[in-house]
Amino acid sequence: MHELSLCQSIIQLTERVANSYDASKVIGVTVELGTAVAIEEDTFRFCFDAIASDTIADGSRLTIDWVSLKLQCQTCETVYFPRSPVIPEPCPRCGSFDTRCLAGREFSVKHIEVEDTRKETGQRA
Ligand SMILES: [Zn+2]
Repeated sequence: MHELSLCQSIIQLTERVANSYDASKVIGVTVELGTAVAIEEDTFRFCFDAIASDTIADGSRLTIDWVSLKLQCQTCETVYFPRSPVIPEPCPRCGSFDTRCLAGREFSVKHIEVEDTRKETGQRA
């Protein structure tokens, strides 16, 4: 399943980042997702929660920043947003299918929110 493997890479990256900051717990993860990646949001959230349990990111809040598919016609250079992220749509001006993708294929972890353990230690000392 597409969503499952994407969530696995998100959690792996999250764990690596959290460890490098000596964080004991991840409380929030923000991912940037292009609509052309064709993720089903409910499935994605379900997979995220399932994989995050028993990791440092257990119970963390998942935020998805959607990026709309944006194409540029290679013939007349018109920039447009297709109605569907998956069904090919020709240039509204000249009808060409020769397009370049400017945005909408993003898949990245934008932000990871952790509990700052070092700060807690500092307050106690
Ligand atoms: Zn065109």
